[in-house]
Amino acid sequence: MKGKLRPVFALALFAAIGLALWRATGKLFYLMNFGYIGVFLSLGLLLMIRKSQYARRVVQLGVGLYMLAWLGLFGRENMQLEGFWYYLFSGLFQAAVIHYLVAKIAGPFLFGRGWCGWACWTAAVLDFLPYKIPRNPRKPGLGAARYAMFALSLGFVLALFLLGAHDLEGIMWLSFIIGNALYYAVGIAMAFALKDNRAFCKYICPITVFLKPMSYFSLVRFKAKPDRCVHCGKCERVCPMNVEASNPARSRRNATECILCGECAKACPTKAFS
Ligand code: SF4
Ligand code: SF4
Repeated sequence: MKGKLRPVFALALFAAIGLALWRATGKLFYLMNFGYIGVFLSLGLLLMIRKSQYARRVVQLGVGLYMLAWLGLFGRENMQLEGFWYYLFSGLFQAAVIHYLVAKIAGPFLFGRGWCGWACWTAAVLDFLPYKIPRNPRKPGLGAARYAMFALSLGFVLALFLLGAHDLEGIMWLSFIIGNALYYAVGIAMAFALKDNRAFCKYICPITVFLKPMSYFSLVRFKAKPDRCVHCGKCERVCPMNVEASNPARSRRNATECILCGECAKACPTKAFS
């Protein structure tokens, strides 16, 4: 697809999802919700085409904060992993379930971990910290923590159901507030301790248990053309996720960590990335 058509495609795709959900559920909310996200995404892509350094930030703040503040805090819907389990087990087809299906389970086959680079409200704050380029090598053993967090989240919601807890909606909303506060605190502390803004994403975030395997097959990828690459290593030095960016193979080192931020392409002196 021609680069200039991508913003139009993004807007049309999200409008189509919103329209389909509106027709299926009768709730106008879905059209407005996906329309809003589509507008910000296409605006970000437009800014990217114009080489604006704010392209990603606009989408992160526009989409991420909308979900955190409007859907979560104001709408009292738990948009975190616990919310996904809760609405799923309750048989409720609510925003959190749809959000997970679109952004984190089915969507990554198309746009990989675009969520992480362009919309996550946790990372939107972490990206403001001073260690955009990691100062230390990865710590492979620490990645096991994400599976523990995933199990903890699932176990917490299952326990609420099994114990017959009252006011589950209230508990979910409270856990959304506490969970987010903890994520920010741990994310910021880890960024400073490991001198790496995205340390939380690499080791702790439980959502990556969904995202990583799906993103391996992603249709949208940053790939260096071998005939243009001069192996200067600049793309890999700026990559916030330690991806072997110059290698176009799906099996490249840390392949499932790519968040489609585009920093590799910006840094490439021969414009090798497509
Ligand atoms: S890894 Fe988790 S915290 Fe990091 S950007 Fe992705 S969803 Fe957000
Ligand atoms: S710098 Fe390139 S390889 Fe690294 S996460 Fe961003 S888009 Fe992916």
